Amino acid sequence: MMGNLSDKLFHRLDNIEDVKEFYEAIDRKHLSNSMSPERPYTYWTIELYDKSNGIRGGGGLGVLAADTRRVAERQQVPFTLITPFYPSEPHQTYSNFENGAYHEKVSYAQYGFSFIDTVNIKANNQICTLDVIEKQLGSTRILCVTEPNFGELYSGDSGGDHRLYQEVSLGFGGYQALKLVGLKPAIMQLNEVATFFAALARLDELTSNGMDFYEAMVYTRKHTLYTNHTLVQAAEAEFSYAQFERYVFPNLRSKAVKKWLSDKFNDGRIKLSAVTIEIAELRSGVSKLHARVANYHDLAGNKVKFKAVTNGIDIPTWTLPEIVDYLKKTEIIDKFDLPTEKYLENIEKIEAKDIRVLKDLGRAEMNRVLSHRLDQYGNHPVVEGEALVFDFKRRFVDYKRPWLPFKDQERLADILERYNIHYFLAGRVHEGDHTMAAKLKRLLEIVDRNSILKKRVHYLPDYDEELGRALSIGANVSINTPIVGLEACGTSWMKDIINLGVLISTHDGGVADCPSDSYLSISGKNEAEETENLYLRMEEAARIWSNDFDLESTVKVELKNYMPVISGSRMLKDYLEYLF
Ligand SMILES: *Cc1c(COP(=O)(O)O)cnc(C)c1O
Repeated sequence: MMGNLSDKLFHRLDNIEDVKEFYEAIDRKHLSNSMSPERPYTYWTIELYDKSNGIRGGGGLGVLAADTRRVAERQQVPFTLITPFYPSEPHQTYSNFENGAYHEKVSYAQYGFSFIDTVNIKANNQICTLDVIEKQLGSTRILCVTEPNFGELYSGDSGGDHRLYQEVSLGFGGYQALKLVGLKPAIMQLNEVATFFAALARLDELTSNGMDFYEAMVYTRKHTLYTNHTLVQAAEAEFSYAQFERYVFPNLRSKAVKKWLSDKFNDGRIKLSAVTIEIAELRSGVSKLHARVANYHDLAGNKVKFKAVTNGIDIPTWTLPEIVDYLKKTEIIDKFDLPTEKYLENIEKIEAKDIRVLKDLGRAEMNRVLSHRLDQYGNHPVVEGEALVFDFKRRFVDYKRPWLPFKDQERLADILERYNIHYFLAGRVHEGDHTMAAKLKRLLEIVDRNSILKKRVHYLPDYDEELGRALSIGANVSINTPIVGLEACGTSWMKDIINLGVLISTHDGGVADCPSDSYLSISGKNEAEETENLYLRMEEAARIWSNDFDLESTVKVELKNYMPVISGSRMLKDYLEYLF
């Protein structure tokens, strides 16, 4: 275990003595026999969003990976996260109504990683040498493979050669890296199908070391969890047999494994989900709704059942420290960040004045961050005085409908002006997504031509963890409008609720884990009805903030319903219960 400064800072909140204490708290004492520092929980992910450790992600998938590791570190669970280290990092700029980008070089040494050794994989008739680097963080570590030309996260086409190279590097290279540092996985959690090759590497190792293929398959399946975040299998990219001949088969030693994999092609094409389902007996979806509706079939044509493990967040990472202290002092959450036995009774005791004092501190923290961030005009959009802050912060993708509040600009302007609201919009457009870049441009032109909107709507480019945290902490009301059925879980809304904000949302993803009267729900038979409903909810939310009684009851209802959902320790507990 390390004892450097950042480690101590990280554990500043009520650290527990020993992992056994956590296992006891979640009623899993036998876990001490299932995992150890040499036999950790392993978590495989193509994306990690953890900039304090040098790696920037793209969105929710990476944030979830980072939070899962942080929760494990806090509770001292032996945990190894294996991911690529991308030497290049994209950033978004915005000026003169044009979306732009620049790319920053990142070096791992700068973030405290140490070089272990190299491993080789075969790709495109070449031997590729990958650096293995690691960083230990308490009971956890981040183990990475990388090389100078590894490229960026999600660069190129999703069915392209470079993506396959990156995925093969993570799987085959990462599996060798694990052995290099002397670890054996107690479990392999595959965070989406891009990590399939890690399980394949294990199967190949067991089989080529003399285990019977079927025995090796049973063993691998029993110890592999496939976590699905996508709703429709049909939308997934495919790879061709020719691509596998160049990037995958040369890395397999076992003829039986090669044969097994070759047989999974259909008309010379393969979807990684199809083989991930075959190699993982354990399968989970990331919210109750998502686990129910994810439409996946195995190769025999049977519908795949997913166990629902709703995402959670690492509460101390995303919450104003004073609010964390308050939730602990009032015994709403315990030292493991789990809801206490009496959380419902204790939430009932929250008073409006506590919420207002804490939210004022949150506003100051948000302004501190905004004082060094830019809006679409290159200004620092700090909010002064009594104004309310509403926000919409998430990746700028169509299904999340960032443009919904702008459908009737007069109506929006009227609400913002009448209730003295500043509206913050944050979300990166993926480089190369010309459709969304055009939509953003149109939206900000509408804002520019309307004097009220121009004063009150602030677009913050290059959305990242810092902005996500600051807006959750400082905003009074947040807006979440995915098309119902398309959000797997989402976690930004959890950050809003834990920071005592009022949530306006469609009933989708993890929000739908609880009944629709747990928050300000947007409903409607079509988009026009939903938009009308959204405006009514925005006015209602503004009025709630002007009235102590309504504020108190709204925040209490949100917390009573979602406290257990939000807790990342609850998520870890659910995974451990499912896996062991
Ligand atoms: C929390 C967070 C996310 C997660 O977004 P959802 O769309 O709600 O899943 C993505 N990006 C950043 C920077 C975040 O902080």
